[in-house]
Amino acid sequence: MALARSLGAVVSGVSGQLVQVEVDHSRGLPSVGLVGLPDASVIESKHRAKTAIVNSGLVWPKGRVTISLSPAELRKHGAGLDLAIAMGILGATGQISLELICDTVFVAELGLDGSLRSVPGALSCVIAAAQAGIHSVVVPFGNIAQCRIVPTARAAACSDLNHVIAYLRGESEPLELAPTTEPDSTELIDLSDVVGQEDARWALEVAAVGRHNFSMIGSPGVGKTLLAQRIAGILPPLTEKETLQATAIHAVASTQACVSPITRPPFEAPHHSASMAALVGSVHGHRVTPGALTRAHHGVLFLDEAPEFSRNALEALRQPLESGHIALSRSSWTGLLPARFQLILASNPCPCGNALTDTLKVCSCASLALRKYTMKVSGPLRDRIDINVLIPSIRGTSAGESSAVVRERVISARQLSAQRFADYPWSTNSEVPPASLRLDFHPEPGGAELLNSYVGHSGGLRGSHRVLRVAWSLADLAGNRRPTREDVALAIHLRNSEMAMAS
Ligand SMILES: [Zn+2]
Repeated sequence: MALARSLGAVVSGVSGQLVQVEVDHSRGLPSVGLVGLPDASVIESKHRAKTAIVNSGLVWPKGRVTISLSPAELRKHGAGLDLAIAMGILGATGQISLELICDTVFVAELGLDGSLRSVPGALSCVIAAAQAGIHSVVVPFGNIAQCRIVPTARAAACSDLNHVIAYLRGESEPLELAPTTEPDSTELIDLSDVVGQEDARWALEVAAVGRHNFSMIGSPGVGKTLLAQRIAGILPPLTEKETLQATAIHAVASTQACVSPITRPPFEAPHHSASMAALVGSVHGHRVTPGALTRAHHGVLFLDEAPEFSRNALEALRQPLESGHIALSRSSWTGLLPARFQLILASNPCPCGNALTDTLKVCSCASLALRKYTMKVSGPLRDRIDINVLIPSIRGTSAGESSAVVRERVISARQLSAQRFADYPWSTNSEVPPASLRLDFHPEPGGAELLNSYVGHSGGLRGSHRVLRVAWSLADLAGNRRPTREDVALAIHLRNSEMAMAS
């Protein structure tokens, strides 16, 4: 047989794309041609494949070898096509039966000794294969932990080229993962570590129920960072679909190929000096590296000392907060990166940090500096924050409930909202669009009356939508069928407590 087809996959953005590898072997002067928009790393594949085949005791064909990668218009990058190219050559030269390779996707880099090496983004490739109805995938051992989480895929880990052939022929078993007992790092930081601050802990719990964006203002040292870091521990675990998406993103973003499945909401806390590329993502050649906003997809983005971030960085949050994605446009790659996160902001009350303290320290900030500082987080961004709280100085030494106890309450409340939204395309209170909120999710008459007066007084229509979403989270926590007058009153308090200070 002179012509063979095998299947590989590459990563574009954070998604996988299947690539068909066609290998033609014909008589002529010895040469290897590779077509189909390969970048430098794919062009080098033919050298790795040749040496790996020879060093595995297999035969590299004499004569002319032409390798075509399709779809031809898709730019291919990375070493993940090595194995698919090698299997195509082995098929074209009759060293393996074509039936054995036609319905399997091969994703691995080849070492010169024929060993299979891990590649970044292997999970995205397995997801793409499963979506295309191809369930058999061969990956390196280092990628198998993340690839096993795709429920419809049969991902098999092999050690080298000969092992792949033996596995396809049914003569050898794939490598198996040893059970691991890695400690869960989120369990190491617990909400009970936060001393005092009952109101702020309660506001954090409400934010966790509805995935509400949350802002804290308080003097340095009152525990803002401590509180924010503990939200991941009280959020419900990710669903199967969210786990797939979050793990695929982190597998592409990581410089290490071995990323464990992410089952808890990710928590990203970029420093205020982070560049725009570090926040929204960057493109090198054709490889996209997701930024902190995308890595926080299905999780939490925490901006500590929010006014210290550049204005551009803060403005970059607006698009993902509205649409759930970032439109990245560079000369070598244009596309959308997912970025649906819960935003948590922490700010000092003023540049010197003493404006709110009840100690002997006095605020020394000039009024202009104070104004510039509070205006840094602009109106449109602040408008997207559902819950604003002032964090007072620490009083008392009592430790509160543990993360596990609070998480149980959050999960129960989330179940109520999930039942309510069973027929809608969203699952949490913060996602309900305004039109649906007005039509289908109004509060009890007492709550509606209070909400109407809030619109008339200061809140505006948009503000009232945000209040109503928080009121629904409060109702879910209390087990109320609809938000009561008290729920709406508390939601107005949660939205406005910080603004009262700022004005
Ligand atoms: Zn000050």
